[in-house]
Formats: sequence, structure tokens, C-alpha cells
Amino acid sequence: MSSDTVIRIRGARLFDPYQGLEAPDADIRVLGGRVLAKHEGQEYAEEVVDARGLWVVPRLVDMHVHFREPGQTWKETILTGGQAAAHGGITAVAAMPNTSPVIDSPELVEWEAHRARAQGFVRLYPVGAITVGSEGRELADLYRMQMAGARAFSDDGLPLMSSQMMRAALSYSTTLGSPIINHAEDKSLSRGASVHEGKPAARLGLSGVPEAAESAMVWRDVLLAALTGGRLHVAHVSAPDSLDAVAWAHQRHLNVTAEATPHHLLLTDDALTAWGYNPVTKVNPPLRPEASRQALLAAVRKGLIGVMASDHAPHHQDDKARPYPDAPFGISGLETILGGLMTALIRPGLMNPMEALKLLTTGPDGVLGLGCRGLAAGEPADLTLIDPTRVWTVDPGRFYSMGHNTPLAGMELTGQAEASMVNGRWVMREGEVLTS
Ligand SMILES: [Zn+2]
Repeated sequence: MSSDTVIRIRGARLFDPYQGLEAPDADIRVLGGRVLAKHEGQEYAEEVVDARGLWVVPRLVDMHVHFREPGQTWKETILTGGQAAAHGGITAVAAMPNTSPVIDSPELVEWEAHRARAQGFVRLYPVGAITVGSEGRELADLYRMQMAGARAFSDDGLPLMSSQMMRAALSYSTTLGSPIINHAEDKSLSRGASVHEGKPAARLGLSGVPEAAESAMVWRDVLLAALTGGRLHVAHVSAPDSLDAVAWAHQRHLNVTAEATPHHLLLTDDALTAWGYNPVTKVNPPLRPEASRQALLAAVRKGLIGVMASDHAPHHQDDKARPYPDAPFGISGLETILGGLMTALIRPGLMNPMEALKLLTTGPDGVLGLGCRGLAAGEPADLTLIDPTRVWTVDPGRFYSMGHNTPLAGMELTGQAEASMVNGRWVMREGEVLTS
């Protein structure tokens, strides 16, 4: 196919949350990386894609991923992470800066964005570190990192323990307009713990962390957001008391947003009983009891949580083969986030497709200030074709990510990406990532 051929996608059901558009029988034409207007490009040859029975959705954003490059390329690289995104139907990501070295300078922000752009599998927005080396002691150069393309700031992987430093970062965010994302975890409560403090942990004899370790810090953060007027985004909420803090912030019209992960919506700490000492269930924040899962689902439906993010945290199998207390935290999530969202929210009828898809489109786009206009004419053609009825079993052996660590393995999900396009180029079709 030459570059002056129009790609025409016909017959799909369109869900475009960016434009608030839903249509049963879409006709989308793409040329030169962009979406064409109705009467543009008539003179070119067409490659027609019959997408009847599928959904077409513009730019799906996973705003919380860990790609491990530079520094830990045996776990994941920008290339394999991008391919995992393509396979999962995710066309844009925000990558966390806890690499080695930490992404805490404009040079590193530029390097990372450039590398992802050259590979072209996913649109990558770097997240810069809040503090130098994410050590929590000295504010990094947020302004210059923003100029270089950073869309948010976070020391994720680690909590920002110093309230004074958090206050400074949130104050700064009022001028920057970019969110400060904190991994909320009071380390003095969580030290040595690998799972949620509850019955399944006790049965296995594993040391647990109470939900208060998260919620105490979320409350601190929203109080500091109130004090400073800063922009706070609460990462991977897992506890009901954290949701109360977000609700409190919303009542006061503070600049506070929050995200949840599919694994916290689909699983509980009962997975510990099923998987035993296999650290595939070890994730931070940990899988919580059923009451917390229900509270999260309710918060998503109420709009308290406006973003779904995978917290994609791939690890090498040797790392995850260590004894439970010594194994690293994290779940490889990019290839299950879409099916996870559809299975947790759409399949049981908790949300309609348009409302649920906002969690991966306008939700994260708004937090990061990306300004995507969906499939409007002239926009970059980032889109995903989804088979909404396909029932499939999660098999990490089929992942493009180097991390096969997921407790969703063996689970049946409904809904899967069939094809994805970034910048007008197919990066995945019929479940296969196009590597050439
Ligand atoms: Zn985190």
C-alpha cells in the first residue's frame, strides 16, 4: 500500500468520546497520518476495511505505564512496551519516570519521547520526576521538563513522603498547569509488607499493609491541594477512605482527579488464596477485599474516578520467581486493560460503552491536557478497532510485553482490540503487531 492510498474504515460502530459522537455505521478515511474531511482526498485510491460488527474508538490512553528503559531493559523496553500497547489496542501512554537513571531532566524527557516516536508503535507522553532522582529531597526542574514535553510529574514507584516537598510541587503545579501524581503510601506503615492486611494474608503468613497506609497519604495530598490550589492526580486508588478524600476534594471544587486499575476492579485479595505463594498477585497497592472493590466500582460509576490506567509494571520471570516477600511489586497490564475495562464495567451493564470508554479517552486526556479532538477532520489518525463480543482467555504467553506477570492469567475477558492505528499507520491487525 502506497502512502497516497486512502485507508477507509467502513461499517464500525463509532464511539468518539472526544467529540461526544456515537454512530452505528461509521465511514472514516485516513491519509497522510490524518483523518480526512468528507470531501477531501477523493482523487486517491482507497483500501477499504470492512469493520462491520466492530467498534471504532479514537486514541485510547493508558496514563500509567512503566517501560523500564533506560536501565532495566531485561524487564521491558520502549520498543516492547510500545508493541504491548499496540497489541492491547492502546494508542497513547504516559510513561512513569522511575527508570535508571530516573527521568528527571529535559534531556532525558526528550530522549524518551524521541525514541518512542522513531519506533512509532505508541504515542508516548513522558512523565517527569517531581524530585531529583526521585529521592524526595530536591525539586527537579519541572519547568524545563515541561518545555521538553513532560505532561505530568511523579516519583511513582515511591511515595513523596515529605509533606513540605509535596506542598512545593503542588504550588508549582498551579503555574505549570500539569498534574502532580503521587503514589500514596505511608512507608512507615507499609515497610516489609507485600499484601493487603487481611484474612488471606494471615492464612499464608504474609505480612500485610492496612488501607490506611494509602488513605492517610491521599488525605494529606488533598489537604495540600486545598492549601495550594495545585493540581493533584491520585494514582491507582484502592481503598474506600481514599475515595472519601477525593469526594471531599470534588465537593470543594479542587483540582483533584483519580485513577483506578483493572486489577483492582476485577480481583480481590482472595486471589492470594487461589495463587498461594506465587508472587504474580504481588502488586502495590495490593489487591483489596470485596467491599473495597465494590466501593471502587461505585466510585467509577459516580465519576469520582475518571481514569482507568493499567499501572503496567512488567518484570522478568526470574525476579517474580523469588520468594513472595522478596519478589518485586507489579502486574503486566497493557494487554489486558481494554478487556479488563469492558469486562468489569460494560459486560455486567454497570456502564454503557460511551461512559466506560471515557475512562481511557477524555478522562486521561483531560488530566494530561492533551487536547485530542478524536476523529475530527485533520486530527492525527489514532484509533482502535474493537471486537466487543469476543470472549478470550488471558494467556501471558501471547503477550508482546516482556513481562508475563499477571494474576489475570487464565481469566476469561469479554472484548478485545482487533486492530490499532497510530498516526495513520496500522501497528496491529487481527491481533498481530506489525513489526516491519
Ligand atoms: Zn505507583
